[in-house]
Amino acid sequence: MLPKQFQKALPILKEIERAHFEAYFVGGSVRDYLLDRPINDVDIATSALPQEIKSIFSKTVDVGIEHGTILVIHNGEGYEITTFRTEAEYKDFRRPDVVTFIRSLDEDLERRDFTMNAIAMNKEGSLIDPYHGKRDIANKIITTVGSAHKRFNEDALRMMRAIRFVSQLGFDVSAATIHSLAENAHLLEHISVERITAEFENLLEGNFKPKAFKLLISTGVYHYLPGCTASKEAIIKCADYSISSLSNQQMWALILIHLKKESLQDFLKAWKLPRKKINYLMKVYNTLQNRGNFQWDHFELYKAGIEVACDVEILFLTIDGKRISQQECEILTLKEMFEQLPIKSLKDIDVTGHDLMRWKSQKGGTWVKELLQEIEKAVVEQTVENNKNSIREWLISCNHL
Ligand code: ATP
Ligand code: MG
Repeated sequence: MLPKQFQKALPILKEIERAHFEAYFVGGSVRDYLLDRPINDVDIATSALPQEIKSIFSKTVDVGIEHGTILVIHNGEGYEITTFRTEAEYKDFRRPDVVTFIRSLDEDLERRDFTMNAIAMNKEGSLIDPYHGKRDIANKIITTVGSAHKRFNEDALRMMRAIRFVSQLGFDVSAATIHSLAENAHLLEHISVERITAEFENLLEGNFKPKAFKLLISTGVYHYLPGCTASKEAIIKCADYSISSLSNQQMWALILIHLKKESLQDFLKAWKLPRKKINYLMKVYNTLQNRGNFQWDHFELYKAGIEVACDVEILFLTIDGKRISQQECEILTLKEMFEQLPIKSLKDIDVTGHDLMRWKSQKGGTWVKELLQEIEKAVVEQTVENNKNSIREWLISCNHL
């Protein structure tokens, strides 16, 4: 019987088979189903060529037609359908630009990275598992399909994928695959930063980060991470903390804390992280650096914002070796304190620059901004109530008007 998680996509397999082609569920969804984990995208592999898929379905999008992938929209949901293919020609240790379409499922499974990712499932729910992925899943082992050395030389990104799967699944890596990771780590120099970053971001989300970090270090893969050539110690130090439950952002900030101050921007830019994320991480970093010099009060909390404050506090307590239960307690207190703030941002103040100019009969200038900041602080610290009249009276009493 086809498991219920795949039922919604069953009509797609049936449609393709009606047109006399083969179609199977493959990759991450089959793996995660066998692991009893929630399923993300249900990917489908087929013997039909992309053009043939397009003629079978009315709603399609060419998301990666040159690699054989067509997105089919069915009942409002998108399914990636990829033609069986081989990636015969690998150049420069990277995924090839040209792929060869084939009609055999076995060969398609053979080009996949790890045995756990090389399992297909037909519409009856039967597995096609020539590389014994199910056995490896049961034994919690990540191992390449065929020779690890050959597979990492074809596409060096697979090394990063192995370690991010360790972080997500907590599996061990087979001895031969570990050996090959250490031997071929340097090939990551040929891989684009964007692809490495995408895998590392996934790694940072995993529940088994300590295991993944230990592997990054023991295999030497960490030498070849963007910006890490000169900052290897930072990765080593991070592995010493209780990092399992830290979020992606908290992990980035923890790494930053262990870098030299001058190299922070270069480090973050080397990963090509989005500007918005870099700015956020720098705010967490700066607040955390200063955290020893203040206690959270209304104004500190207001300035930081609750998201930054929580990230800072969790890191502060993690570095201090505090237990999760204590961290949760502190975070709850911070959240309660934040809820009590009379305003959450400058735009919540009940006066505007125009009010101030009118009250003082004075033209605008830097004084408006400065006075608004003073009012902001007084409102946050509850020296004055956040309404126009009270603020005006308070300004008069302080000789500001
Ligand atoms: P996730 O659940 O995180 O998406 P996934 O296994 O589905 O994990 P994808 O990147 O979505 O990972 O890839 C889908 C499938 O394509 C994989 O399961 C694997 O079979 C194959 N694959 C992906 N990247 C590679 C690669 N670099 N080399 C070989 N096969 C790959
Ligand atoms: Mg996937």
